[in-house]
Amino acid sequence: MLNKKKYLYLFSEGNRDMRDILGGKGANLAEMTNAGMPVPQGFTISTEACTQYYKDGRQINHEIMADIYEYIGKMEDITGKKFGNVANPLLVSVRSGARASMPGMMDTILNLGLNDEVVEGLAAKTGNPRFAYDSYRRFVQMFSDVVMELPKSEFEEIIDQMKAEKGVKMDTELDENDMKALVFKFKSLYKSHMGTDFPTDPRVQLIEAVKAVFRSWDNPRANVYRRMNEIPYEWGTAVNVQAMVFGNTGPNSGTGVAFTRNPATGEKALFGEYLINAQGEDVVAGIRTPSPIAHLQEQMPEVYAQFVDIANRLENHYKDMQDMEFTIEDGKLYMLQTRNGKRTAAAALKIAVDLVDEGMIDEKEAVLRVDPKQLDSLLHPQFDPEALKNAEVIGKGLAASPGAACGQVVFTAEDAKNAVESGEMKKVILVRLETSPEDIEGMAVAQGILTVRGGMTSHAAVVARGMGTCCVSGCGEIVVEYDKQQFTLGGVTYKRGDWISLNGSTGNIYGKALPTVDASISGDFGRFMSWADAARQLKVFTNADNPRDAKQAVEFGAEGIGLCRTEHMFFEADRIKAVREMIVAENVVDRKKALAKIMPYQQGDFEAMYKVLGERPMTIRYLDPPLHEFLPTKEEDIVELAADLGITVEHLHNVIDSLHEFNPMMGHRGCRLAVSYPEIAEMQTTAVINAAINVSRETGVKIVPHIMIPLVGEVKELKFVKDVVVATADKLIKAAGVDMKYEVGTMIEIPRAALTADEIAKEAEFFSFGTNDLTQMTFGFSRDDAGKFLNYYYDNKIYENDPFAHLDQNGVGKLVEMAVTLGRKTRPELGLGICGEHGGDPTSVEFCHKVGLDYVSCSPFRVPIARLAAAQAAIKAPRAMEK
Ligand code: PEP
Ligand code: MG
Repeated sequence: MLNKKKYLYLFSEGNRDMRDILGGKGANLAEMTNAGMPVPQGFTISTEACTQYYKDGRQINHEIMADIYEYIGKMEDITGKKFGNVANPLLVSVRSGARASMPGMMDTILNLGLNDEVVEGLAAKTGNPRFAYDSYRRFVQMFSDVVMELPKSEFEEIIDQMKAEKGVKMDTELDENDMKALVFKFKSLYKSHMGTDFPTDPRVQLIEAVKAVFRSWDNPRANVYRRMNEIPYEWGTAVNVQAMVFGNTGPNSGTGVAFTRNPATGEKALFGEYLINAQGEDVVAGIRTPSPIAHLQEQMPEVYAQFVDIANRLENHYKDMQDMEFTIEDGKLYMLQTRNGKRTAAAALKIAVDLVDEGMIDEKEAVLRVDPKQLDSLLHPQFDPEALKNAEVIGKGLAASPGAACGQVVFTAEDAKNAVESGEMKKVILVRLETSPEDIEGMAVAQGILTVRGGMTSHAAVVARGMGTCCVSGCGEIVVEYDKQQFTLGGVTYKRGDWISLNGSTGNIYGKALPTVDASISGDFGRFMSWADAARQLKVFTNADNPRDAKQAVEFGAEGIGLCRTEHMFFEADRIKAVREMIVAENVVDRKKALAKIMPYQQGDFEAMYKVLGERPMTIRYLDPPLHEFLPTKEEDIVELAADLGITVEHLHNVIDSLHEFNPMMGHRGCRLAVSYPEIAEMQTTAVINAAINVSRETGVKIVPHIMIPLVGEVKELKFVKDVVVATADKLIKAAGVDMKYEVGTMIEIPRAALTADEIAKEAEFFSFGTNDLTQMTFGFSRDDAGKFLNYYYDNKIYENDPFAHLDQNGVGKLVEMAVTLGRKTRPELGLGICGEHGGDPTSVEFCHKVGLDYVSCSPFRVPIARLAAAQAAIKAPRAMEK
């Protein structure tokens, strides 16, 4: 056969650079084998065999099946043992291992190859029947659970029952006869579920186990893990078939897990634990309490010394903290795995910085070692990990804004505010169908926000991220009954005042109070981030529309404001009345009167922002949302407003009705507002320019206002609004007798704007990509409603993740790239940035770097993440500095 594809590799055939096909575990087993370390030998079935399995309709095809049998033969030659042979049996473990490590997400089967005859042979050969039957009962249990998906708990019940009958606590106290009895009971249980006998042919067992590992790539928890970590489905997992070594042969054997440094703190000291007379799963199962690794030094000094030596060699080889699994069989050490260990954010920083100080890696390499997303946990409170272990998840929504929150349930923003201010409650969680800008004050006092509706760029998500408040959005399973002040989830009803907890980093919801630990930034952070800043080529700005958020962002390293959404300034209690007057005004004169009332507030806001920013630039985006969003919805508020405005309730109702839109996101919003009512743009320009002139005078900082017109799709509409801006600004500047420059630019958030970017760049001095709307309009689905159906898209593998969270590079990204090219063709010095939520998402930041944007802008708490992501992008693929 010519060009036969190679799907299988002996450990001796691979190396660490082959992780794409061998997976991380396979590549590292090969690498350890090459380094002469004591690795039980075996082979890896490649990730390509897994993808082929799915292509073949979840079947292992004949070619790969034949390869597996061939490699079993090779393994028999290497080990001198034989599969299914009674006198000298080969037993294997079958374990998953994807390219990116996904701890605990996929499946493992140990002791494969046993049956009623082989177990007797093993007992005779080792002179240890208890061990042989212990291995057998473990195998039957694991095979039933993992391969046949029978309920694990039923097997555990049988063991518990037996221990109770014998009056013992630990598995190790069960004897040979107990183990035999367990095997018998397990096989009966298997038969009662499956209707067939437990498979006795090791080859059949093996193929079924390999299939189970392939299948586990697609299990729900693996899918969720992949989506959270942006691991592509198409990668597939490899399968490692490795000769068993036994930690359960008696007191001279054991098994354990160890890290070369502490994965929680980063401290440089061997960290881990082991169990004597046990197999791998016992260490994680928590039935017996393992001993700390240091104890092994007393128990088996030679083995310990050898292990320390290997651990050091591995860390020096990989130049990173290693997470290792080992087994000791009758006093002999075997290495079963090594990989770069998972670690907390604090440990990641310490290890990266320490490795530089130890001369192991340089600063750029250190910058690559910390996952930007992990920084979140340094900036937000987290749950106490101990408390989380036993906490039951009662529901799940979108992980909209990270951090951990615990508080008492309230259902309105007003109640949140009152309960906290009056001291009735210290911590509240605001539960809403969805939030609206009116809820802002309640959101500000809440520990967390939970909504039934709304996606990753919904109001609740955007505002919560801005404030750094934990938010879980779009949990459609919740039934909220505002009138009864209660909600129901998972069959349980929670009333006002009940305690719940939210994890905004995973979307998990818990039905009780869980203790949280505050965010803490260590001394390493500043040093580490300075290396990142030195490496990056993108600037990092923030989205902020009040001085508090702006200040926070500056502390996190923001170099300016890339998006100041002015509408948030319209909602404050003291000005909403004037805004409403403006909306109901029936002629220009009345509208201008109302706008004149708003103007001083806006100007004051901008002045405060400019003062916080100092030399840093600010892009001010003009009024964007549909006007009706500012009007009251509750009857009592409508009655009150009508009285305030001196109009009838009926009249106000008519106004509200007339503003109703079938599709507000595509309705009277953005620059369309300024086209209909140029006086709005005039007022906003007056506020911006006056604020800039005043602060410049006061502080001596030369301010260059950046004025941004939203939702442009046609150059003439931009020109129309720009003319209003320029006429107003020039007049004010002239009257003030100052020399002030300003820029007028636009957002690119409608596909037509991207398609005609060359024309738009004639009028725009800068572009800022509003990828929230651009995603919404390119996909044609609503940023607020997509949460309702996206899960079906994930389940059916149509989308792998939320395009509102991670930029869709193939579609929306193509529009961005096109607009960059067309825009720069017209105006080479065109400023380019992004201010959609993607500006704080690491993979999207990398894309922005690649397509040559000048900056990304994101919510304050994501600024450090964006700084690090930008640095990593630049280190991986530095770009020539264009300007
Ligand atoms: C956007 O659309 O990406 C954007 C930043 O504007 P907004 O979210 O306010 O619509
Ligand atoms: Mg927008």
